[in-house]
Amino acid sequence: MSIFLVDEYKDMEPYVPGEQPKDKQYIKLNANETSLPPSPNVFEAISKKQIWNMSYYADPHCHEFRKAVAEVYGVSENEVFVGNGADEVLSFVLMSFFRRGMKIYFPDITYGFYRTYAKTYGLDMEEIPVKDDFSIAINDYMDLDGDIIFANPNNPTGLTVAVSDIEALVRKKPDRMIIVDEAYVDYSGETCLPLAVKYPNLVVVRTFSKSRNMAGTHIGFAVSCKSIIDDMNKIKFSFNPFNMNSVTMAAGIAAVKDTIYMENCVSEIIKNREYFSNELKKINFHVIPSKANFVFCYNDAIDSSDLCDRLKKEGILTRHFADKLLTKYLRITIGTRQEMDVVLVAIKEILSNADGY
Ligand SMILES: *Cc1c(COP(=O)(O)O)cnc(C)c1O
Repeated sequence: MSIFLVDEYKDMEPYVPGEQPKDKQYIKLNANETSLPPSPNVFEAISKKQIWNMSYYADPHCHEFRKAVAEVYGVSENEVFVGNGADEVLSFVLMSFFRRGMKIYFPDITYGFYRTYAKTYGLDMEEIPVKDDFSIAINDYMDLDGDIIFANPNNPTGLTVAVSDIEALVRKKPDRMIIVDEAYVDYSGETCLPLAVKYPNLVVVRTFSKSRNMAGTHIGFAVSCKSIIDDMNKIKFSFNPFNMNSVTMAAGIAAVKDTIYMENCVSEIIKNREYFSNELKKINFHVIPSKANFVFCYNDAIDSSDLCDRLKKEGILTRHFADKLLTKYLRITIGTRQEMDVVLVAIKEILSNADGY
């Protein structure tokens, strides 16, 4: 630490993303990316013309891209904010609407970045325990007196909250902001995005990193009422007007318009998820029923962190969290059928050598 770092940032806790080792070719199932390629339209969109365009600044209003997103999701352009990944979009939400010391509530089992943001922005975070089955009890949130953020489906459990429950929560206190992170919603099929333009206090955040197979371009967006989006743009233009580059936006426009391709990829992943979950259960795994592109599971015969290490030696990356609420479990992203079969063979092999199996 240098002598220059400001006091407020001294106890910041940077988020630790899933590792991206390059020492060899891994089957990469540790960061909920998709091993399928982006839409064929994206291959067309990144042309020589895009390279010529690099000479000039991209449109800081992201007009074409926001228009494309708005059309696909049936909202208007001024109800869409686009950013460098859902992470940056969430960061703009917190920067715009939270003062230091302000209360923020989220489940005690959820996306680890919320804790990091709370530290970064000096928020007074309160984690609400999930139920024994890891589901979120919406009634625990109804009367809370501060803003709330959660992921739906939740990460790393893959469990969902019903849209009707979210609507009840939003309606309960109109002066309280509800932020719903829908990173995995395409795999669950139940979105509250239309509610985000119906109520003045709901922000829905999406990403292209998961169901659009484009984590490397890092695109995210938020849908909310115009006044909230205007505020976020005001903050963006006071921080980094060019948060979206021209190549990324060209790719994003091509991808977002290809709904059919996305839906095909999603149904393939869902099919593989159901197959893989069933196969795991056959070999005595406890598997939380997931509505996302990953499963959260464990087997009594082997420590999950051990299993994670041994799978890595076999060239398979999965995600183990040291957090005491999560340490029993292993999160495995769903890839292609072929990848999942390789994982199953490796797991069976490891288990046959494990004590207590
Ligand atoms: C993966 C993930 C994100 C991050 O999305 P990016 O667009 O890659 O920043 C956000 N929220 C949740 C719940 C995630 O799992």
